[in-house]
Amino acid sequence: MKYTDLCARLLGWAKDIQTGSTAVWAMDQDLKQAATAIQHLLKANNELEAKVRESAMQELASLGQAQEAYEAQLAAEAKVAQLEGALQAVEKLAITASIASCTCHVKTPEITFHSANCRYVLLQYITAQCEDARTAIRKGATP
Ligand SMILES: [Zn+2]
Repeated sequence: MKYTDLCARLLGWAKDIQTGSTAVWAMDQDLKQAATAIQHLLKANNELEAKVRESAMQELASLGQAQEAYEAQLAAEAKVAQLEGALQAVEKLAITASIASCTCHVKTPEITFHSANCRYVLLQYITAQCEDARTAIRKGATP
């Protein structure tokens, strides 16, 4: 899936959260995909960074190569930022929407007391998925 498509889908999920659609259960896969995509980009970015550093130390002849690697690195960074932005939008909306969202009238923060199809449970689930995605991203970010 293209990064722009993935971002569009994540932002689509954000819209579903706002409208209260229960279809958001299916966003799990998209969040995992986003985390994996970001991880790959960060890894590629780290490799490119190393290449740029290496090239910079070489003679003038390799400057063209260094420039190319640098441009690829900038493009990868832009994609990571785009995906992270979409993830953040989903997470922020899920957290905001979870306030007073209980539809099973249990009204306790303890998730196990709620019914499985309660909106609060759904939003907690999405928030947890976003957290998982961020953890996966952080793992990819470590050099
Ligand atoms: Zn509830």
